[in-house]
Amino acid sequence: MQWFMHKRLARSLLTMLLAGLTTQPSLAQGPSRTLLRNANLVMTMEPQLGDGELGLIANGDVLIEGDRIAAVGKGLDGLGARTVDATGKIVLPGFVDVHNHLWQSLIRGCGTSLAVGDWLQTCVFPVSRLNVTEQEAYAVVRLSTLDLLSAGVTTVVDWSHAFRPDFVRGNVQALLDSGLRFAFAYRGRVEHVEDMRAIKRDLIDPNPRASFQIGGVHPAMAEAVLTTLRSMSELAREMRVKLHVHLLEGEHDRQEEPLRVLDLAGALGPMLIGAHAVHVTDEEIRLLANRGVRLAHCPLSNMRLASGIMRLGAIRAQGIRVGLGLDGGANDTSDMFNTMRAAVGLQRAVTHNPTVYPTVAAALQLATIGGAEVLDMAAQIGSLAPGKKADVIVLDPHTLNFAPRVDEVSQVVFNAQPSNVEWVFVDGRALKERGTLVGVNAEAVMADANRVAQRVRVALIR
Ligand SMILES: [Zn+2]
Repeated sequence: MQWFMHKRLARSLLTMLLAGLTTQPSLAQGPSRTLLRNANLVMTMEPQLGDGELGLIANGDVLIEGDRIAAVGKGLDGLGARTVDATGKIVLPGFVDVHNHLWQSLIRGCGTSLAVGDWLQTCVFPVSRLNVTEQEAYAVVRLSTLDLLSAGVTTVVDWSHAFRPDFVRGNVQALLDSGLRFAFAYRGRVEHVEDMRAIKRDLIDPNPRASFQIGGVHPAMAEAVLTTLRSMSELAREMRVKLHVHLLEGEHDRQEEPLRVLDLAGALGPMLIGAHAVHVTDEEIRLLANRGVRLAHCPLSNMRLASGIMRLGAIRAQGIRVGLGLDGGANDTSDMFNTMRAAVGLQRAVTHNPTVYPTVAAALQLATIGGAEVLDMAAQIGSLAPGKKADVIVLDPHTLNFAPRVDEVSQVVFNAQPSNVEWVFVDGRALKERGTLVGVNAEAVMADANRVAQRVRVALIR
């Protein structure tokens, strides 16, 4: 009897609820809908959807339904949809950052006159001895996630040094809470394999926005390193995830013959992501291409740490998949506009050729669809095409750093700044609206991260 009463009550409540919903057509019609209407320019990155290699649509709309892009074009029917007036704005896919270390907001400003080896010794390795707690890891990664989102990055690969199991939990929880799409690359050591499996099973796999990678130790000829890389390579294959290593970043890395080591470890294949690949020979470029290895180009980091200049043109000419990476504390910012600018500028500076690869269009591709290809996620993200995940950003170019507008595509690369990012959607959910992060107390996040940084700074100096 009581069960029947409950059932009847539930049914009448449902009827009342549905009656209420009929006054809100967007909800009554199924998944939530958002129409980005009348953008001055939509950069789809899909040549078949618009003009030129970037698939440009002038005065275009993007219709989001639930977590997907439902339509891209002109004059779309937005009946029942929440409308964002994009008049005068530029709409493009969210940026894909294929190589970062989110905990490193903790060491911003550290070792700013050091090359890569000394920087690691001074700013990174000592942190492993400082027992950074779960809450502290959460605080600093939280800061980085908000910085990324605010700057228009919607997918990030977070290569974590995974100092301790509780550090990993704080690190992953901050990623989960951020709303970002992410891959968590757990720095793999044999003694942590059980914890890696647990993190993947309990925290990553249940979340459709999350994926797992294994962060490989620095490839070197030492037997212990080779053994570790071999077991991590086997684990990556078993888990069907990427192995992600730092590769030939500094000139001194050549002594260790990292490609030979990776080959011996069975890792030289499409499951491998190599970050940097600055000091590669022609023969090595051919080898990387033949094996289907993917690369992350981190120009701001390479500049800051005096690492060198990636031979991006030669690498792309062999068909190697390349994306852009912000590379954490070796860069100090989450600015993908600046990263595109550096990717273009370095090649021009070194070749004295203003038309060399990457062109402006190619830089935009590297930062979006190129990154998606590196991660084997191009069917889901990286461009604005019907059926893809709705990871979309809206830029407001009506600003002192951008106006007047002459060539908007070039100006996105050469003029834009994170402050031009007005809206950010991940999975169709607005995480930044009208220039403000949604539901975030940025002051509190900065205060928490500052407290951790103060403690670590004192310990690092000691
Ligand atoms: Zn790195």
